[in-house]
Amino acid sequence: MSAPELLTMTSPDVGMPYEWSIGIYGSKFFQEIRANQRFVGIRCPQCGKVRIPPRRVCGPCFRELDELVPLPPTGTIIAFTIVNYPFIDPATGLERPVPYTYGYIQLDGADNIFSHIINETDETRIKVGMRVRAVFKPAAEMQGNIQDIRHFEIIEVQHGE
Ligand SMILES: [Zn+2]
Repeated sequence: MSAPELLTMTSPDVGMPYEWSIGIYGSKFFQEIRANQRFVGIRCPQCGKVRIPPRRVCGPCFRELDELVPLPPTGTIIAFTIVNYPFIDPATGLERPVPYTYGYIQLDGADNIFSHIINETDETRIKVGMRVRAVFKPAAEMQGNIQDIRHFEIIEVQHGE
């Protein structure tokens, strides 16, 4: 058996600018945030479930969807984690300051889970089941992306405080 050959490696920098269409319903999702500071989901005519952000097809039913449903900017924390380990945020390419809290939120009127930042990093002040509300950027600063939602804030104060 002969010795393995050395592999030649190159390290080029490859620029990959691209634009990605978020589709008609993805666009409506961000347009509704900008126009009315609320969300829009979409209801499946077969299973009746409302999903957010709206999509063209219900995955389980494989039905095409077209019934948009306005949803309030409020919900309930299903799960959360307080992140203390810094890493590069893929949404911005920058290191996200720590700590920050990432939450799974059951939005009112939706059947799936929405995930976003919650602006509470004190673990004694946040619990599963707390009510939250989306805080949006001013409309003039919105860019039609997920950062148009600054974060969610807790709107329910714990008993005893
Ligand atoms: Zn369905």
